[in-house]
Parts: sequence; C-alpha cells; structure tokens
Amino acid sequence: MDKLKTYVRSVPDFPKKGINFYDITTLLDNPTGFEEALSEMERYIRGKKADRIVGIEARGFIFGAALADRLKLPFVPARKPGKLPYRTVSASYDLEYGTDSIEIHTDGVKRGDKVVVVDDLIATGGTLAAVCKLVEKLGGEVVGISAVIGLPFLPYDHKLAGYDTQILITYDSE
Ligand code: AMP
Repeated sequence: MDKLKTYVRSVPDFPKKGINFYDITTLLDNPTGFEEALSEMERYIRGKKADRIVGIEARGFIFGAALADRLKLPFVPARKPGKLPYRTVSASYDLEYGTDSIEIHTDGVKRGDKVVVVDDLIATGGTLAAVCKLVEKLGGEVVGISAVIGLPFLPYDHKLAGYDTQILITYDSE
C-alpha cells in the first residue's frame, strides 16, 4: 500500500503554518492510484457486509460515492450544517479552536443497518466519531470505518476506540 503514498501530495503550511496538508487530488489525478485505493476499500466494505455507506463532506464523497457504485449500496452524505434540505440529526465535535457540527438526514440510516463510514483522512478522528454517533442515534450499527490516510501521531485511536478501522496509508509525523 505504500505505493499509494507516491500518489499523495504533501503540502506544507496549508491551510496555515505548521500544518502539513495531505492532498488527495494527485491521487485522483492518477487512475491507477485511485483504482488501487478504491479496490482495497471495496474489499474491506464487502467483508463487513455493509448495508450502506456514509461519506463525509467533502472528500469522503469522492471515495464513498465511487465505492457505493462499485458495491451497489446506498450512499448517504454527512454534511456541514445547513446543507441538507430534509429533516436532519446533528452532532457537534471539538476543533482546535471552538466546535463544529455535522448532519445526516433522519432517513439516511434505518434501524439495524450495518454502516461503513468513509473519509479521505483521519486526523484527530473528531469528525468520524461525530458521524458514527449520528449513525447510532438513528439505530444503525457502525461495522467499520474506511479512510485512505491516517495521522496516528495526533492521535485518533481513543476517539475511535471500539470501531474497526481500515486505513490504507499512515504518516508518522507532521
Ligand atoms: P479530524 O476530525 O481531525 O479527524 O479531521 C478530519 C477531516 O479534516 C478530514 O475530513 C480531512 O479531510 C481533513 N483534514 C484534517 N487534517 C488534514 C491534513 N493534515 N491534510 C488533509 N486533510 C486534513
């Protein structure tokens, strides 16, 4: 999987000084790299016998929607507040400064659904943990989390404790 690293561009000091931004647009620009990432994620989600995929705005949509098409599963978007038109459930999570929240439609997950949550990158794990809470609030079961990149030095482990997680590549420091 380390070959995948060659397709990810690291951009220092974006969006602010001291942050190394892992840019997946270069992976998307390479059909071989994108295909490799999707195939690994597809295998994982198939093994979890998921009923639906929840993808996190915005880059989680790119992977999540492509995977939903491959697996012929429903795709459910988790979005920033105020973007979804129908009734929503919402969860807040902490940022470095302040809080943010994320929403899904109340009919996005049905009671008893097995759900895999997809995003491009796990940093602190706060966003993913909030989305998992929403799935559970609606009676769904999070059977897995799948992400292309993980930054374990942050660390996300305790926020995602109890969830089975697939991460294709990790970076050890900023
Ligand atoms: P977190 O809630 O801290 O795990 O942040 C995860 C979200 O922020 C993901 O949707 C990522 O797309 C984005 N993100 C956070 N840190 C980075 C980074 N260093 N490079 C690229 N994306 C990031």
